[in-house]
Amino acid sequence: MRIRKLFRFEAAHVVRNCHARRCRENIHGHSYIVEVFISSETLDKGYMVMDFTLLDEVKALIDRFDHSYCLWQGEEEELKRFIYRYNQRVVEMPVSPSAEGFALLLFFLVDNILRHTVLSNGEGEVQLHSVRVHETATGYAEAFREDMKLVDFTHDDILFSGSILHEEATSTKHRDDVHG
Ligand SMILES: [Zn+2]
Repeated sequence: MRIRKLFRFEAAHVVRNCHARRCRENIHGHSYIVEVFISSETLDKGYMVMDFTLLDEVKALIDRFDHSYCLWQGEEEELKRFIYRYNQRVVEMPVSPSAEGFALLLFFLVDNILRHTVLSNGEGEVQLHSVRVHETATGYAEAFREDMKLVDFTHDDILFSGSILHEEATSTKHRDDVHG
């Protein structure tokens, strides 16, 4: 059985080397929609694959990309310097920030979160099935496990700027203060 949770973020990028000139030569933005598909052959005690509240860490991950500039590591140094000088929220990506690149990157990151999520309600073998990233209202890219062979990167290759991490830390602290 399969479940799906939807997330959103707004971000800017430029996709170098792509066919469309508008896309490869202009910094522009999209309202991204990310769909995370999770599957399991058995259900937990509540007749669920897994409870969506267990995906809070995925929500926090997607939020790291929100209102950020998504910077491909293959960009020229001059642009990198400019982006860091005039933007606080920057995500440096080892893959180009195309919808395909995002889908692969997010598959990698969400899969890692899921593997470390503690399940204690009788869930079965919960698996990340795919991650679908919509860049526009009419198109999306979807990454499956077997697609990970298309790329080769590690956690250390994905960089979130200090501002992103600081904002996340302070909002987590605020939540803890409110609920603690
Ligand atoms: Zn674009």
